[in-house]
Formats: sequence, structure tokens, C-alpha cells
Amino acid sequence: MDIEREILETDLAIVGAGPAGLALAYKLAKLIEADDTVEMPEILFIEKGSHVGAHSLSGAVMDPRGLEELFGDYKELGAPLESPVTSEAMYWLRENASTKFPYEPPALSNHGNYIVSLNKLSAWMGEQVESCGLDIYAGLAGYDLVIEEGRITGVQTVDMGLDKEGEPKSNFEPGSIIKAKLTILCEGVHGSLTKKAFEKIPMLRKDSLPQVYLTGVKEVWEVPEGQIKAGQVIHTLGWPQPNNEYGGGWIYGMSDTMVSVGYAVGLNSPDPANDPHLKFQRYKTHPLLRKILEGGTMQNYGAKTIPDGGYYSMPRLYHDGLMLCGDSGGFLDPSRLKGIHLAIKSGIMAAETIMECLKADDFSANSLKKYQDRFENSWAKDELYKSRNFHASFKKGLFSGLIHAAIQTFTGGKGLFERRVNIEDHSYMLKKSEYRQQFGNDPSVKELKFDNNYTFDKLSDVYKSGTAHDEEQPSHLVISDLDICNNRCTEEYGNPCQHFCPAQVYEMVEDSDQNGTLKLQLTPSNCVHCKTCDIADPYQVIRWVTPQGGEGPNYENL
Ligand SMILES: Cc1cc2nc3c(=O)[nH]c(=O)nc-3n(C[C@H](O)[C@H](O)[C@H](O)COP(=O)(O)OP(=O)(O)OC[C@H]3O[C@@H](n4cnc5c(N)ncnc54)[C@H](O)[C@@H]3O)c2cc1C
Repeated sequence: MDIEREILETDLAIVGAGPAGLALAYKLAKLIEADDTVEMPEILFIEKGSHVGAHSLSGAVMDPRGLEELFGDYKELGAPLESPVTSEAMYWLRENASTKFPYEPPALSNHGNYIVSLNKLSAWMGEQVESCGLDIYAGLAGYDLVIEEGRITGVQTVDMGLDKEGEPKSNFEPGSIIKAKLTILCEGVHGSLTKKAFEKIPMLRKDSLPQVYLTGVKEVWEVPEGQIKAGQVIHTLGWPQPNNEYGGGWIYGMSDTMVSVGYAVGLNSPDPANDPHLKFQRYKTHPLLRKILEGGTMQNYGAKTIPDGGYYSMPRLYHDGLMLCGDSGGFLDPSRLKGIHLAIKSGIMAAETIMECLKADDFSANSLKKYQDRFENSWAKDELYKSRNFHASFKKGLFSGLIHAAIQTFTGGKGLFERRVNIEDHSYMLKKSEYRQQFGNDPSVKELKFDNNYTFDKLSDVYKSGTAHDEEQPSHLVISDLDICNNRCTEEYGNPCQHFCPAQVYEMVEDSDQNGTLKLQLTPSNCVHCKTCDIADPYQVIRWVTPQGGEGPNYENL
């Protein structure tokens, strides 16, 4: 279908209003306010959530360093902080037992940090940006990256009002082309435009290792008083994650009655039945968790992937007409599982560089390289460099990982040697036959009977994420070869998508036309935009693209 699109000319296009994009916009506005040699450029700042914060999800214990550098006295300005961290503990879990670590590993020490809700923090940062006179267009999704002669020249927004077959309905509104001198991708983890940039401009990832991911599944609970304390931070390792796989859990006291509880599961699992949602529900059945949650009510649910590779997985952060900030640029410290402060810092460094580019009216790679230089000379680089070998140390399992991580803390992050693991997460997944051969049993889903009161099935959880999509639109989960899903994958892997998706988007159902054989049924309207499927699918035939703007989760408290 040939579509005529409106062209919107602008100086800067910012995609994504998370901490990175918001910090960038705020810092730029303040720098321009203080420098009368530079005029405010035209900025089109888009966000796919229905409002700023709607798609924000984090643990979240926040290191305030970024916020402080951006806003100065952020408390005085009214930043929404749930509680300062008041106590912390780390446990190693077995099925019915737990052992408290005698000390907190330095990377997980949270003295001076704050428990926050990223929804609230992003919404508040959005207000600060708007108070500088900048608009944020929430409900507008960037669908495609415009690349001309090797240079990024903007973004195409998503078409609205197409039916399931992609035919225009009466309310059809074609997406526009935002033509920008500079496009800054602040899409968060595994962004769909960022992925496109990596595919089309291979030099962005030429010198970096593949990004590696966890899927974090989270609920917020209201519990009776006396079961948690505001500011209490508990991290756990071990059960229900097998010791040969990567991951762990958290319990954070947002107040004396509100708890953030979650579990993060590595997507480099050999197990084709790896199910982060199920692991999280099992996690809650541990006595340590029951003591805190029982008698309470689950209020909110969400899931999202986490880019956990660290320094060696970071791409080059610039190209002609392009910058990458926050999780889009891999700014997350794997040893602390923290990215908010680094996303903010990346936004600050991008804004400082943009100031120089505006003065020179030059957005070429040559000019934007100063962003990379700033990063290489920043505290963000120092922090990320120290944890460069962290995730890869766990390649041989939990116990050797802990020993290596301990050695790294005394050797500036090096440990015994530099670790460069050049394997994508999905390549770790074993076929059913290989799994049987290696582990002596079938990849098995450890069944759990959900009572939908304390443990929840995926659909009941998704309901608590506020997720909504118009069902009459093309699927935003694009499967390039359904035949692989319905035949080869069933045979070889047992359709892992039905396990790894934490929102029940993928189900194998009986095909009445084919004598009851199984076929894949998609329910894209359940999707919480976590991106797990795009990352973990062993054949890489699933592509996550943006649905209509303003849809997806409507996260609160997360
Ligand atoms: C489960 C979990 C636990 C975590 N725990 C912690 C923690 O305790 N402490 C900590 O510091 N960090 C934590 N993090 C990491 C932290 O949340 C991220 O590093 C941080 O949010 C990154 O900020 P960002 O702005 O880069 O991306 P995001 O916060 O992800 O924001 C990106 C924004 O871009 C929008 N967007 C994406 N694509 C498009 C598009 N094509 N068009 C328009 N808009 C788009 C999204 O809707 C979103 O609003 C955690 C992350 C997860 C998932």
C-alpha cells in the first residue's frame, strides 16, 4: 500500500521518555537557558506510553547520583522518593530454607540510595521537562527509523487505524515522518528502532559483545503493618533458579505497608521451558517471602527485560544523525542491577554534546563523537568498567560466579582474567533431545497451582498491569515464518514462547482443521512490551514492533 505521509521537519527527535530521554531534554533546556548564544532548537519528543511513566518499570533502588547531578537539590524540588534505604540483607535460598549472608557484597550495598517507583519518578521528571517549556508527545510511537545514504534522518511514527490484515479503517491516520537533524534513541531495553539501527549500521556493534538479558517479573503488594519496614532491602540468590542459571530476587519496603517484590531470570538458560513468571510465582511460596506477603493483596504487576551485559556489550553511542542513551546504549551496571542513575548521566552527557553540535550546526558522527569521549572520561565509565566481567563470571554457575565476582571487587573488575563471551542469549537454549542428554530428564515445567490470591496465573497478573491494546490492528509481534513455530519448533524445542512470555501472548492450541495438531495462537493485546520474545526465541523469527501509540501497559507504582 502506497501511503502519503506528512513530513514534520525538526532539529531534534527524542524517542522515549524514560530517565534517559527526560534527563537529556531537561539538561538541554537548562544549558540553553544559561547561554544566550544558542537558540532553543525545535524538538519533537515522543513516548509510546499513554502518559509519561506508563511504560516505566524498575526494581527499584535508585542511586541518587544522576538525579543530584541533573537537578541539584532534587528533594527540595519534590522528587518522589518512597523511602531511603534503611537496612539491607542478602539471603541464599533453598526450597524451604534460607541462609543470610554474613555481609552484603559491596556492589549490592545500598547505603545512601532510595527506593522509588519509576512510574512516579518518570512522571515527575516529565513535569520538570514541561516546566522548561518543552512538550512531550505521549501516545506517539516511533515505528521505523529513517535512514538515508547511511545517515539517520529521523523516525516514522506508527500508523493508526489499520485492521488486523493491515487494511485502513475509516479512522486511518498514517504515521508521519519526523525529519530531524539528530535522532536520539532513548527507547530503553532492546528498543525496536535501536535494533533496526544495529541491523542497518553494523559498525555500531562492530566492537561490542552481544547484549545479554534478564527478564524481571514484579508485583507490588500492600501488606499488613509489621511485615516489612520502609526502606528495608532484601536480595536473594538461589532457589527457585537452578544454580547453573543466572538470576535472583528482591524484596523492597516502599513503605511500612507497600512491598516491591520481583525476580529476574537470565535469558541465557539452556532450558526451553524457562518461565520467568512461573519462577517468580514459585519464589513467592518460599517461607521468607510468605512471612512478608501473606495476608496482603497484590496491587500491580509488570515485566520487562534488563540489558545486563555491561561495558563490553555497549554499542558505539553515535553515528551520523544518531545518539543512543540509557538502556538503548547499554548503560546498566550488571553488578548492581542499576541503570536509572546511568541513564540520567547518559542524558546529561548527550545534552552537553548537543549544545556543542548546535553551536557548530554539525550533527555528523565526527561532531557527535564527543558524546562517546565524554562517556569514556566520566564516572559512568568508571562504574561500568569495574563491572565489565561481572555477568560473564556466572557462565559456569552461581558458586564459581560468586567467587569470581568477589575477586573482581579487589582487582578493579578484572578478576582472574578478562571475560569476553561472544554468544547471544537465545543460542544457549537446548533442544529437548539435547536437554535430555545433558540433564538426564525432560525440560520440565515445575507445575504450580495458582490460587489467584497469593500466586497468580499470567492472565490475572496481566490484568493488574493495566495493559490494553485495540485488538483490531496488525499484530505487533511479527512472526516471519509461522511454519517453523507450528512444526519445527514444536518438535525441537516444545514451543518455548508459551513459557518465556510473562503475559500469555503465545499459546499452542488445537488446530481443528488439522486433526487436533497444535498451532500457535497469538494474543498481542496481552503484551506488556517486555521484549522477552524478540530476545529469547531460538529461531529469531519473532520481531517486536510498536503497536498503536498510547497502548500497552499502564503501570502504576512499578
Ligand atoms: C525488573 C527491573 C528491575 C530494575 N531494577 C533497577 C533498580 O533497582 N535500580 C536501578 O537503578 N535500575 C533498575 N533497573 C533498570 C532501570 O529501570 C533502567 O536502566 C532505566 O529505566 C533505563 O532508563 P531509560 O530511559 O534508558 O529506559 P526506560 O526507562 O525503559 O524508558 C524508555 C522509554 O521509551 C519508550 N519507548 C520505547 N520505544 C519507543 C518507541 N519506539 N517510540 C516511542 N517511545 C518508545 C518506553 O515506552 C519508555 O517509556 C531495573 C529494570 C528492570 C526491568
